[in-house]
Amino acid sequence: MSKFWSPLVHELKPYVPGEQPKSANLTKLNTNENPYGPSPKVIAVLQQQASDALKLYPDPGSDALRQVIADYYHLQSAEVFVGNGSDEVLAHAFQAFFQQDKPILFPDITYSFYPVYCGLYRIQYRCLPLNEHFEINIDDYLQANGGIIFPNPNAPTGVYLQLSEIERLLDANPDSVVIVDEAYCDFGGESAASLIHRYPQLLVVSTMSKSRSLAGLRIGFALGNAALIEGLHRVKDSFNSYPLDRLAQAGAIAAFQDQSYFEMTRDRVIASRQHLVEAMQAMGFEVLPSMANFIFARHSQHQAAWLIEQLRQHDIIVRRFAQPERINNFLRITVGDEQQCEKLIKTLAVLLKSALT
Ligand SMILES: *Cc1c(COP(=O)(O)O)cnc(C)c1O
Repeated sequence: MSKFWSPLVHELKPYVPGEQPKSANLTKLNTNENPYGPSPKVIAVLQQQASDALKLYPDPGSDALRQVIADYYHLQSAEVFVGNGSDEVLAHAFQAFFQQDKPILFPDITYSFYPVYCGLYRIQYRCLPLNEHFEINIDDYLQANGGIIFPNPNAPTGVYLQLSEIERLLDANPDSVVIVDEAYCDFGGESAASLIHRYPQLLVVSTMSKSRSLAGLRIGFALGNAALIEGLHRVKDSFNSYPLDRLAQAGAIAAFQDQSYFEMTRDRVIASRQHLVEAMQAMGFEVLPSMANFIFARHSQHQAAWLIEQLRQHDIIVRRFAQPERINNFLRITVGDEQQCEKLIKTLAVLLKSALT
């Protein structure tokens, strides 16, 4: 608290990111980073770009990168916006589209940054409960609103919503912006980007942090009708002209250009996910169906808080969300590489066995 703060700052409830431990010998399965690291071609480009040219400002429009992303999704570059991580892209989208008279809608169990942006931009919101299978029920969203947002697959559940359901929502909701946050869509889902030319109110937001292993470089993007993208550019250019530095722009382009590395690492994550789900089910965990690079699981006999503490003592960190109460006994576990998954499975087996005796 300080008398120097603007009044709004007293009311903010900032987002708390998952722990980034200083110690390197932890098996870090708590923030959904990609275990494989970026493409070697990305590293080479970053080394090349670390040059005297850093004295110059980067391209404020990230034009070359936007063209590469547009080509990848079969869009025009005027239909692509880029920002300093998708968290920044989302923040701009909340300000550009959701400051409306009516409340915006999102699920009760979802990415916990959404209510934080609402606090920052004074946006009213209403949370709609997931059904008993932790699924989004589109019928609940067919009501007056100032905008709609949800991740697909959802976070932190990993549960995927079919594109046909998103189309049904868009058909019934032509007058406010619908944002689909596809942070995890590359791990088995189908992108709603294919619907953009049919629905001018659709904004798809994505990130290079997860499927492209570039969480440390901070690159997010949005895809949508050129008018929506122009709205985002108006906000961005009223905030920061250069959200992506020279290294980020060059590294992001190189990542999109190495499609085979992207596919190879994605397929390995998907295969490990399948293996992990089966192993955990065999140990008595209920695991929600996941299309993401993490799983969401609970054990009928053991408290999540106890499991987290025990795993930590074995140098494995995973995440738990205390709120809302319906999910407070779930563990959210990032799918690591093959070795990390084996270590997790073996450790859980030992813990569960020792708990019995
Ligand atoms: C990780 C994540 C983001 C943010 O990604 P960055 O691009 O690293 O800012 C956005 N939405 C969801 C649902 C996420 O899980």
